[in-house]
Order: sequence, then structure tokens, then C-alpha cells
Amino acid sequence: MGGLFARTPHEHSEEPLPGFKLAYPMLSADGTVAGYSGVTLGRAHVYRTVDDAVCAHGSRHACPSRWCDCGFYCFHELSSARDLACEPDHRGAVLLEVAVSGRYRRYERGLRYARQRVRTVRIGRCECGRAAELLADSGVGSVGWRRLVPVCPGCAALRPVITPEDFSRLAGGIDVRLDGPIPGMPVPGVAVRPDPAAEPAPTTRDDEPGTVALLAAEVALLQARLDEVQSRLDRLTRGPEH
Ligand SMILES: [Zn+2]
Ligand SMILES: [Zn+2]
Repeated sequence: MGGLFARTPHEHSEEPLPGFKLAYPMLSADGTVAGYSGVTLGRAHVYRTVDDAVCAHGSRHACPSRWCDCGFYCFHELSSARDLACEPDHRGAVLLEVAVSGRYRRYERGLRYARQRVRTVRIGRCECGRAAELLADSGVGSVGWRRLVPVCPGCAALRPVITPEDFSRLAGGIDVRLDGPIPGMPVPGVAVRPDPAAEPAPTTRDDEPGTVALLAAEVALLQARLDEVQSRLDRLTRGPEH
């Protein structure tokens, strides 16, 4: 062994190795199981929370093979997965924290490997840019599976949705977290973190009767002026008759 072979050593780990990746959240057609599908290679294949890789090209070899690009992929760093999530094609994806085990190969920024356990799902932003809080039916999918898409409550409107708690349960009790707003980009007019200890905004409620009273006073004033104008008009129109 040497040269080419030495550069791509095949390794095996008994201890789970941490990794980070993007995936599309999926829901089985009967609504009883949650899964994931790849964002690039193997888009058509849906995997479960604990699963073994299968060849994306239909070969029967064990993954990962030296001669094929199939297998699960992950990054070593969370930031690499977050960077990839900024690409337009990946905006509907969620971020997975995984534990890698079994046979694996290294590539420049991560691992390609045989077996995976999803530990955490991080739900990011809605298409509108606000923090997503639900998973809606995206309208696309593969045979037996609907692809879900992260949405904010506003954009969810009357669309069919499941909650993060639902997804967690259907995925076998994994940890599901909401990533919140885009870092460094607050939504105008919306408090980023409302302080639960703060008193319930008295100004808005007190302002309302105040504004109504002010408007009522102005209307009364206008009415009085209108009455005065009307009486002058009456006097003027009556004038020539005398
Ligand atoms: Zn393959
Ligand atoms: Zn939205």
C-alpha cells in the first residue's frame, strides 16, 4: 500500500464521531414517521434517525467505497454547515448534528461514512427571513414521503403544519431546536427577545383611549364649526328675503 491508497485511508470508528450536515425534513405519507433526505447527492433517498448508507447510484457495494462517491457526508464544523445553508438551494433545509460510526473516509472538510445517528435537528429561518417555528408541507416530496419546509407562524397561515415537538416524537425522540432570527438581522418593529419580566406594555393600551378621546374632541369641534357655518349660511340665504 502506498501512493494513492495511502492518501485515502479507509478507517473505522467504534466511538461515535460528531458531525454537522444539512438535510430536508421529511414526513411519511401516513404521517407516522419523520425522516431526512440529502440536499445534494441522494436527494431521492430518505433515511431515518438511525440508518445505514446505501449507494446513491444503485450499486450493492458497501458504503463508503473508494470507487464511488456515495455514503453519508458531514462536516467537522457546525459553521461549515451554516455557511452552506446560506445558498439559495438550501434555504428550506434544516441543520443536523449527527454521530458518525462504522467505516468512514475523510475528505477535506469532513467525513464520508456508513452509519449515522441524528442527535439534534436545528430549524432555521422561514423563506421570508423570519425565525421559523413550524414545519409545513412544502408541496414536493418523493415516493412515500412529503418534504417539509421551515415556516414562521405568519407564513404558515392556514397551511398544514407539524410542530417541532411532533417532528421530535415522529423521529424517535430526538432533540429539535429553533435557531431563531438571522444573526445580526433583526426584523423591524419586532422585539428580538421580549423580556418576560417586563410589565405588559401599558403605553399601547393607555394610548388607545387617549387617542379616541382626542379624536372625539376634534370631531365635536368640527361639528361646532360646521353648525356655526350652517347658521351663517342660513342667515345669508334668508337675507335677501327681508
Ligand atoms: Zn456507491
Ligand atoms: Zn415567514
